Amino acid sequence: MTGVTMSEFKYIDVPLNHQQIEVLNTFIGPERSAPNLPSLILEALNTSRSFNDAVADGNAPAPPERDIIETYLIEPGQGRAIPLKKGQILRIEQTEGGQCGDFNVFNLHNRHERLHVGRTRIIHGNSPSTGDILWSNAPWERPLMAVLNHTAKTDTLYAGCSSLLYSLAFDSCNHTNCQEILTEAQREYGLKATDVHDSFNLFMYVDADETGATSIVRNKSRKSDYIEFVALMDVLAVPNVCGDDLGKSSNFWLRPLKALVMAPRSEDTEQAMEINETAYKSVLPPRYEAPEDPIIKDEKYIPSYPHLPIRIENTRVELNSTQREKFEQVRNYSLYGDNEGAAMRDILMSWLSERMDW
Ligand SMILES: [Zn+2]
Repeated sequence: MTGVTMSEFKYIDVPLNHQQIEVLNTFIGPERSAPNLPSLILEALNTSRSFNDAVADGNAPAPPERDIIETYLIEPGQGRAIPLKKGQILRIEQTEGGQCGDFNVFNLHNRHERLHVGRTRIIHGNSPSTGDILWSNAPWERPLMAVLNHTAKTDTLYAGCSSLLYSLAFDSCNHTNCQEILTEAQREYGLKATDVHDSFNLFMYVDADETGATSIVRNKSRKSDYIEFVALMDVLAVPNVCGDDLGKSSNFWLRPLKALVMAPRSEDTEQAMEINETAYKSVLPPRYEAPEDPIIKDEKYIPSYPHLPIRIENTRVELNSTQREKFEQVRNYSLYGDNEGAAMRDILMSWLSERMDW
């Protein structure tokens, strides 16, 4: 990824995956934007502007130390269904920084009771924070989990990505997406595609303009940034790596996320009890008969995620002195540091997303 500087020219290897190349290829050819991929990258550089997006200063603060019960590394294109007992803590953590995740939650003893993102948004706003509750759907409307601690943003405004979105925007029907990833992760516990619910978004950054219109902006999470939840009942929690490598939500790339199940410290239990007691002052007994349907692990489950493996290849571009100057003007050091390939990929994919209104 590091360029080799020659006397006049500079080479940069730009890593792209096969999903990105498939979409970019639709701009390549006679009477299209460019004759080949390196020329398209230079065309994007030529029309690019610098942007101010920056990650927070310094390193992510160290998370509280607790006894770790289980650690999962969730790879791109994948998710993980994780059972938690009431009181246990789930930390979702950045491995590299910049990766958005989606999140589903169910009552472990009844698959019909699940996170209601809309209700949670109405009560706690667009970006739930420390002490805010993840509420279940009617007729229960109870606390499933609460945000215990976090160094990065949550979002409840944007629906998870699905195959429809990639088909609509890019005419691409073979693309990693949260709907299908969650479906496959949840299958381990007997849940169906119809059980996937609206997403609670992890590490997702949204801005509003002066008219109040919102848009997804680049991901500002750093390596080791985290969001911690405490289970307020026995739950099945399902985080996944968002499948969107064409937009700003994960800075045009897919990276692993880490999930840790931890035992609570005494202060965690106190905090959880306080949140729960306050919430239950308002929780009413259900007025309708509710179906019961426990979630049971399928011991024979073997994961089979669609759209994998993700294949990555480098495209080499050669920059003359004018292009080198332009690259130095527009590359974003805050997000990408010395990684010239990632900085150039942002320039290329920003060009694409502006054309596709993504
Ligand atoms: Zn997604």
